Amino acid sequence: MRYISTRGQAPALNFEDVLLAGLASDGGLYVPENLPRFTVEEIASWAGLPYHELAFKVMRPFVAGSIPDADFKQILEDTYGVFAHSAVAPLRQLDGNEWVMELFHGPTLAFKDFALQLLGRLLDYVLAKRGERVVIIGATSGDTGSAAIEGCRRCDNVDIFILHPHNRVSEVQRRQMTTIFGDNIHNIAIEGNFDDCQEMVKDSFADQGFLKGTRLVAVNSINWARIMAQIVYYFHAALQLGGPARSVAFSVPTGNFGDIFAGYLARNMGLPISQLVVATNRNDILHRFMSGNRYDKDTLHPSLSPSMDIMVSSNFERLLFDLHGRNGAAVAELMSAFKASGKLSVEEERWTEARKLFDSLAVDDEQTCNTIAEVFAKTGELLDPHTAIGVYAARECRRSLSTPMVTLGTAHPVKFPEAVEKAGVGKALELPAHLADLFERPERSTVLANDIKAMQAFVSEHGNRGKPL
Ligand SMILES: *Cc1c(COP(=O)(O)O)cnc(C)c1O
Repeated sequence: MRYISTRGQAPALNFEDVLLAGLASDGGLYVPENLPRFTVEEIASWAGLPYHELAFKVMRPFVAGSIPDADFKQILEDTYGVFAHSAVAPLRQLDGNEWVMELFHGPTLAFKDFALQLLGRLLDYVLAKRGERVVIIGATSGDTGSAAIEGCRRCDNVDIFILHPHNRVSEVQRRQMTTIFGDNIHNIAIEGNFDDCQEMVKDSFADQGFLKGTRLVAVNSINWARIMAQIVYYFHAALQLGGPARSVAFSVPTGNFGDIFAGYLARNMGLPISQLVVATNRNDILHRFMSGNRYDKDTLHPSLSPSMDIMVSSNFERLLFDLHGRNGAAVAELMSAFKASGKLSVEEERWTEARKLFDSLAVDDEQTCNTIAEVFAKTGELLDPHTAIGVYAARECRRSLSTPMVTLGTAHPVKFPEAVEKAGVGKALELPAHLADLFERPERSTVLANDIKAMQAFVSEHGNRGKPL
């Protein structure tokens, strides 16, 4: 499989190289040159497979030519073997034809484990084969950092540095990062805010001299492998609910448009998906696009669902590429105009095309808390605030009551106690068994000034299993 850039200028890469690439050299994002397509009969024959075997069927074409089948099967069995629920992504019924797919049974209790557990193992496999090492530097305001650290902790060939804003992440989220020890794991608390952390990561990609030739790898959702891993659970849900003989609809709590874009790809690969609901919080740039063809940058509004507090959605460009007939030059032009003005809209017929599949809703904090309380009272299912936004939007936007509607349960409620307590059901919160002693574990992190030179000096001093690069 070959991968091409959404801006049409960067060279095409194979899977191995796209795994190690960040942004394409032309500023675009990598996408498959040709999407694999499965027949309905083929998809139907996968019913009843264990999750890791289904994952092999769905992802095999994407890694073809880079990873032999037997090795890929083993990697997938190891990856999904660490999940605490034997179904990996169990479905819970909320109401007639209404479901939540629980994607939070991985080590760090959010759906990001599905991709980052796999990414760590893929990186280590490819790097061992090449005899190379890499450094990861990532910024986090919460879920990504812990999932990336958990995904890379056993990698022999990866040193990971995660920057978080000092004293500005929740205690559960901080502890999920700082209680994991290893000579290749480095938590840095920056005396600044999340944007400062993110800016440092971006600038480090632009000027990599401090890495002395070691390659820098991205772990945010611009990395293609993350999107790829998320396609699988759409197939998993549909097969449980009568697909592919029957269509299924999904509602997806959305920030950077990575998770829902995977659903869009699943549909283009042949899975009958009749509707995708983009569920956002007050940070609703995607809702403004889907409802009115206006993708306009706004200021940041902190919310009770902080993992979706974004101003722009990095993966939206991948959808724009398809909406423009995969014309890289047109996307490059659109994105440079957006960079200059902070505004973007597309031609009417392209927008209408998107609206055939996508609906959207922005949900505020009060509606979020009300949904947590109501669903808990009626079903006993305790939703985290992101999932609650998905459920609320699913109910408002669904097109057909006879089509199963599945909301992606993106995080465990214990990660976001503030919203659950505001909803009046905080008493029900409980840490799962493997994290029961989280608040007693020792922590390790380094506090650094809000200064990119200090951060980069720290990386060069510790980037080779704790030793200098
Ligand atoms: C990352 C995250 C999201 C948003 O996912 P995107 O792929 O960025 O759209 C939603 N909910 C939770 C809990 C998350 O951690």
